[in-house]
Amino acid sequence: MKLKKEEEIEQLTEFSDITLDNLSKQELTVFFTSIGEKKFRAEQVYKWLYSKYSDDFESMTDLSKTLREKLKAHTKLTKLEVAQITRSKIDGSMKILIKLSDNNYIESVILKDSERLTGCISSQIGCRMGCKFCNTAKIGLIRNLTSGEIVRQIQLINKISLDEFGKKVSNLVFMGMGEPLDNMDNLIKALDIILDENGLGYSHRKITVSTSGVSNKIINLFELKNAPNIAISLNATTDETRNRIMPVNNKYPIKTLLTDIKKLPLQKRKRITFEYVMLKGINDSIDDAKRLIKLLKGIPSKVNLISYNITKDSEFQKISYEHILRFQKVLTDAGICALIRKSLGEDIDGACGQLYAKYLKQGGCDVN
Ligand code: SF4
Repeated sequence: MKLKKEEEIEQLTEFSDITLDNLSKQELTVFFTSIGEKKFRAEQVYKWLYSKYSDDFESMTDLSKTLREKLKAHTKLTKLEVAQITRSKIDGSMKILIKLSDNNYIESVILKDSERLTGCISSQIGCRMGCKFCNTAKIGLIRNLTSGEIVRQIQLINKISLDEFGKKVSNLVFMGMGEPLDNMDNLIKALDIILDENGLGYSHRKITVSTSGVSNKIINLFELKNAPNIAISLNATTDETRNRIMPVNNKYPIKTLLTDIKKLPLQKRKRITFEYVMLKGINDSIDDAKRLIKLLKGIPSKVNLISYNITKDSEFQKISYEHILRFQKVLTDAGICALIRKSLGEDIDGACGQLYAKYLKQGGCDVN
């Protein structure tokens, strides 16, 4: 993470409404040294905020009382509030409605698949990408989440997960509200903390960032020291269909997107995941399957076939499981790793963008 520009750092030197958990480790260091504190204060506070999940200054007992009072009087911490929790009777998944300090709301989901717990994380309030099969798209973009809100969201669902299941979520998928790559700076800042052993301590192998295909920004994720897994929400095999269901395709057509993906410096054994929400009569023909084989040629990939969740006002229909199996067979016969993913949390209206359908292995290849 780059340090802020000089003038922004200057602002950090004044106690002026700074939200401490929106600062990176380096920015915290700049802040503490600029107010006359030793560098190690930044490290102490960083650990309290992130690895110890502290959300008040009183608990930071290794800081002097004077410093704690100063911080309390002149800086802020991100506050999230649980507004509602809904539990799935089918699989135990939980949807958590979270109230932010400006009275906006986001959703996070704890997906339970057997013993595996995955946190589905939001990156924006609403979304401007306009995918036609997605409920969040109807909201439009209200604003980006701050890095503090992204990290605190994960801490909050981990606290709930500990209470409910006795353990934190082991995997994180950025497939909740929002297009993560449309909030790149805050995503990268949050990832820095999520991956840091003195932060949330997750392995990059346990994190997946899903994008609707903001082609020019995918490379920025790959340039990170520990790049997370990438999932591309493809959902069509022709520009005509993809333009219709995913307006982002008008800017980054399939050919551009896949050409950019082919250029990514993939590590050995790393594959790109392609999400494919199956919409009856739209993208589910055997010709689509054959086109998909051609499109993915030369890309180490796996395909997740996702059954569409019908929600209120759905303009699409679900296809039968048998039909998905036929589609899958065409792909697997051509040597493509294609898995059918079952939707979790269907009865809690857990589908935000339909993309966090999670994760039942139904095929013959390894899953991250
Ligand atoms: S599917 Fe994702 S990118 Fe598309 S509108 Fe919904 S939240 Fe945004």
